[in-house]
Amino acid sequence: NVSLRGLKKSYGSVEVIPSLDLDIRSGEFVVLVGPSGSGKSTLLRMIAGLESIDAGTVSVEGEDVTQRDPGDRDMAMVFQSYALYPHMTVAENMTFALRMRGMDKTTIGERLTESVRMLSLEGLEHRKPGQLSGGQRQRVAMGRAIVRQPRVFLFDEPLSNLDAKLRARTRIELRELHEKLGATSIFVTHDQIEAMTMADRIVLLEKGRIQQVGSPREIYERPRNTFVASFIGSPE
Ligand code: ATP
Ligand code: MG
Repeated sequence: NVSLRGLKKSYGSVEVIPSLDLDIRSGEFVVLVGPSGSGKSTLLRMIAGLESIDAGTVSVEGEDVTQRDPGDRDMAMVFQSYALYPHMTVAENMTFALRMRGMDKTTIGERLTESVRMLSLEGLEHRKPGQLSGGQRQRVAMGRAIVRQPRVFLFDEPLSNLDAKLRARTRIELRELHEKLGATSIFVTHDQIEAMTMADRIVLLEKGRIQQVGSPREIYERPRNTFVASFIGSPE
């Protein structure tokens, strides 16, 4: 499980996350939604260890990882803006972390092939990011996380740049991958369909505060307040 306790974050005098507690079960797929500026990306970066936290703890399977480097947390994050290495090919970008870790070439090759297939990147392995479309770059960024097969996935709107058909397919394949790896996933999106179809539980954030946590059905049928109702589009 992933356990967040008393997480706080301010930028200067602006309190982005006042104090946040959340427990995510092992194997759970949690979708985090909320308006622009509500702190979703900040929260993911705090969990990943990419953003300093002012107070609180992040634990994974009972281990406090708050002081650990991002590379030591067995988490993989897919960013909203996909920063690929421009001088590396698609294959090199995707396998970089595995090569750094000294994984054997056969396993790297297998993981690459599987991820390339899943993300429909066949034939693009030797291209550089500059020779790809936005949607293709976004899939390479996802591939970099997927090949690592981490305990915890942190996704920041990874499907926003894909066309409708690919988005629908990738939704299903991502959930399948999550099940197959027994991973725990936190997935940020603005897309209601993604939230309703992918989530075991939806977490609604407003100004860094959790407004409601529940299954898609609970949130839809019993929104706790008008903010939740209007956000999820239910008949309140
Ligand atoms: P979006 O849906 O637009 O991606 P978000 O929910 O991911 O929004 P965050 O990026 O987490 O929102 O930002 C939360 C708040 O923190 C915003 O008000 C933003 O301006 C502020 N913020 C984020 N990063 C910084 C920073 N490095 N310095 C100062 N303020 C920041
Ligand atoms: Mg964001």
